[in-house]
Amino acid sequence: MKIGFIGTGVMGNAICLNLLKAGHQLWVYNRTKSKTDNLVQKGATWCETPKAVAEQAEVTFSIVGFPQDVEQVYFGENGIFAADITGKYLVDMTTSKPLLAQKIYAEGEKLGAKVLDAPVSGGDLGAKNGTLTIMVGGDQAAYEDLKPVFNDFGKSVHYFGPAGSGQNTKMANQIMIAGTMTGMCEMLVYAKEAGLDLETVLETVGAGSAANWSLSNYGPRILKGDFAPGFFSKHFLKDLRIALDTAKEMNVNLPATEQAEKLYATLVDDKKLGDLGTQGLIKLWWK
Ligand code: NAP
Repeated sequence: MKIGFIGTGVMGNAICLNLLKAGHQLWVYNRTKSKTDNLVQKGATWCETPKAVAEQAEVTFSIVGFPQDVEQVYFGENGIFAADITGKYLVDMTTSKPLLAQKIYAEGEKLGAKVLDAPVSGGDLGAKNGTLTIMVGGDQAAYEDLKPVFNDFGKSVHYFGPAGSGQNTKMANQIMIAGTMTGMCEMLVYAKEAGLDLETVLETVGAGSAANWSLSNYGPRILKGDFAPGFFSKHFLKDLRIALDTAKEMNVNLPATEQAEKLYATLVDDKKLGDLGTQGLIKLWWK
């Protein structure tokens, strides 16, 4: 398929490699051009703007950082909506606001495109290994059409309903992760202070009813002193704030997620450590 791809950072670059491996033709754009170099070497074509990408491709994926980046990619001067997108598929995979997904859907539909919101979970390793979980909302027929492409980089792909449903599912996912990340960090702080062997603690806790993805993926990185992203803390703080804002609109109270937001705000806003991976949260306790 002729695929356009905007945003070739940690996640996007790895997804593109899997799309190339699956035999698709790729047109790519990223704010920092050098992050597409490895893809161009493997046969992708560089485009100067998101508009140029959307003009070449049958389906255009985006996975950029923040909702304001998504706004720029879609609604900016040389954005996707400046292209002729009649009959084309548009898929935003950035973790972003459900309301923005609905706004993109409405504009895309007006311009004759088929629009999906399809945020992902599974981390940098899931992106590399082509085993992402993909949570889809929007045009159901478009979802059915694109399922084979999603399967080229995902292993669990589900449709949840109208535009914004993919983002709402991702928010549910992030609310869960707020608990597993804070739980893992406090568990390690406690175990260290108690003088336990931390490698054995990780192995033991991970084999019982406290087993979870954050523990098995980020616990070992913490013990190695590896705080590289993975998943940027600044992005997780963005997700927690979207989840809390959306919950407020629905009159839902999330006190544990509020606490996680305060902890990540200390790490990102006060300590300026937002470029650490989310496992960097433990630095609030460990020196
Ligand atoms: P990342 O490495 O920062 O990648 C984002 C990329 O988007 C960067 O290369 C950035 O360009 C580019 N970008 C930003 N604004 C742009 C614009 N206006 N036009 C063109 N390119 C633009 O972040 P990531 O880890 O891949 O995460 C991307 C999204 O996926 C985030 O919303 C994140 O929350 C979500 N996510 C991440 C993970 C994970 O484990 N990493 C897992 C699930 C979901 P520059 O190179 O110039 O900065």
